[in-house]
Amino acid sequence: TAARTAADWDGVGTTSDGHRIKVLGNVGSVADARAAADAGAEGVGLFRTEFCYLGASAEPTVAEQRAAYAAVLAPFSGKPVTVRTLDAGADKPLAFLAQEAEPNPALGVRGLRIAFDRPDVLDRQLEAIAGAVKDSGADVAVMAPMVATAAEAAWFADRARAAGIRRAGVMIEIPAAALAAREILAVTDFVSVGTNDLAQYTFAADRQLGAVAALNDPWQPALLRLLRLVGDAAADAGKPAGVCGEAAADPLLARVLAGLGMTSLSMNAAAIRAVGAGLAESTMDECKVAAEAALAGDRPRP
Ligand code: PEP
Ligand code: MG
Repeated sequence: TAARTAADWDGVGTTSDGHRIKVLGNVGSVADARAAADAGAEGVGLFRTEFCYLGASAEPTVAEQRAAYAAVLAPFSGKPVTVRTLDAGADKPLAFLAQEAEPNPALGVRGLRIAFDRPDVLDRQLEAIAGAVKDSGADVAVMAPMVATAAEAAWFADRARAAGIRRAGVMIEIPAAALAAREILAVTDFVSVGTNDLAQYTFAADRQLGAVAALNDPWQPALLRLLRLVGDAAADAGKPAGVCGEAAADPLLARVLAGLGMTSLSMNAAAIRAVGAGLAESTMDECKVAAEAALAGDRPRP
């Protein structure tokens, strides 16, 4: 059959032989959410909540947060949305969570690590998210950024459930978390791989530095081997594993990610239709063959 074009994609992410791979949007604002919905996203795989507060000098109240989240979730009533708790620090400093200067901010107190010192901030955010679920009718899960161990994942999942949120997961964006995927999946409902940071930390290559961009290529076989560990662990646990880093926006790499066991891919709105159409061109066996070739490659790209 003729290759399908992005315009033909029917809006349900599946391989040509019917394996379901959800095609989701990455959003950080109301405008992003509308763009993702217009592009045909089946839901949201990553809502970067810190983007709502980059300019805020004081912590938004629970009511303010609830209204901001509900506005972003509104186009996705009845659809799956994964809200990420604040990923402040390093490249995304928030004034109201100002920290002491660190020699290596990317390796410092960022993401969920801030919540260990300030669990009250996390609990208020979880309360606001739980409220926004009621306002929007979206099928909401929460996940934490920058998780290194299963103990951290369990700590977060307990707090999320205590706030009344039914599904709690974590991002896999530190190599230690990929290596501990089995233990992490034992205490969470799902995982989502952040390939931007996972590449940065795997290759010890700053994601903001052009001079080392070749190492931050998501086709790098060593990165894909970590993804395979995650995919295998998720399949054995019978729980979902997604990718929400830039890797998911490449239609050719999307097939590889499906072949590695990823069950959802989340990306910027502009990539959604091409990735959906690309998945529909391959059987799952073809995705697995593509994955084996990419894993074996000694060069980053095919
Ligand atoms: C990632 O690290 O891949 C990710 C999706 O999160 P962010 O880009 O917001 O750090
Ligand atoms: Mg990240």
